[in-house]
Amino acid sequence: MAATTTLAAKPAGRQRAKGRAAISSPQPTDLLAWYDRHRRTLPWRAPPGRRADPYRVWLSEIMLQQTTVKAVAPYYADFLVRWPDIGALAAAPLDDILKAWAGLGYYARARNLHACARAVVKHHGGRLPTHEAALRDLPGIGAYTAAAIAAIAYDAPATPVDGNIERVIARLYAIETPLPAAKPEIFRLAQALTPKHRAGDFAQGLMDLGATLCTPKRPACALCPWRESCVAHAQGDMETYPRRTPKREGVLRRGAAFVARRADGFVLLRTRPAKGLLGGMTEVPTTEWLADFDGSGALEGAPRFGSGKSVRWRRRLGMVRHVFTHFPLELSVYQAELPARTRAPKGTRWVKITGLAGEALPSLMRKVLAHALTSDRIEKIQPGKDQS
Ligand code: SF4
Repeated sequence: MAATTTLAAKPAGRQRAKGRAAISSPQPTDLLAWYDRHRRTLPWRAPPGRRADPYRVWLSEIMLQQTTVKAVAPYYADFLVRWPDIGALAAAPLDDILKAWAGLGYYARARNLHACARAVVKHHGGRLPTHEAALRDLPGIGAYTAAAIAAIAYDAPATPVDGNIERVIARLYAIETPLPAAKPEIFRLAQALTPKHRAGDFAQGLMDLGATLCTPKRPACALCPWRESCVAHAQGDMETYPRRTPKREGVLRRGAAFVARRADGFVLLRTRPAKGLLGGMTEVPTTEWLADFDGSGALEGAPRFGSGKSVRWRRRLGMVRHVFTHFPLELSVYQAELPARTRAPKGTRWVKITGLAGEALPSLMRKVLAHALTSDRIEKIQPGKDQS
């Protein structure tokens, strides 16, 4: 017999019930039964009753951080073909991994993936450890990923809590504390629900519930295995959970990007420093990105091709806009045509335009190149702005 909860008797901060209806406590078995019937088929998921491969779980969980299933699927398939196990990944050059990762974003993940593979080969005999604490010691594996690997690959009673699961739990218990302050409370409640047996299926059931029914907008509560236990559903204000602290927008930064194109079909690129934003990725030369960027002096940051070489930079109409986690960015794009065999300035290199797909270009730089190479919208040449 299911236990019951009286809404009006819930702890302070979780009482928003209209009326005093008594509802049953959520039962893990209800979620597991729903999962057995409605589980999603995902490339990295083991068939029912089979244990998942830890390498595949780890790879997919790293790729899925901040990224959708749809975006990850082709990258995941490509990685498995190139590097079918963790030993192969550890042996690969970092540059190859960055190139294969290009376009997936949050590039620190790719560098950590490589560092983690090497650490697993060096310290754990090429097999990801089973315990959360040992997993958390590895590069790029935080509390969530460690719990996901432990639960899904090893069926340990661990509780991964991602954004989808946060939403389910916040609604289930109508948690009034806004995120991110509510995270410890949400984790405690999710942990209390986690069963000792089938913890991996339970975690994946929660993930699937959040992804398919308990969606941010218009959750399909009528189909939910926990609708009789859900406080937000009883109140009728599901979409208002989880509560959130209003976001502080990052300050807009601006800069200029320079796309130098050679007559024989090459474009000028360079590699960003290994540490920091987009570390180790490929880019076209740019100015610094600053909140107080002065566009009138943009060409001072353009690459220089040696004394006596006159270069005419032309500005493309429009801007390339990109939003990083902490700030939005606007880049104006300048383009110049150079003769064949012009030498690359120090720290840069010429790359064949037809070979750009093989470069570790982040999305921002793909946008910049597309803006420069596929549009004919060019502002009038600015007198006196040519660089020699
Ligand atoms: S009843 Fe609705 S709001 Fe509550 S957990 Fe289920 S889908 Fe989410």
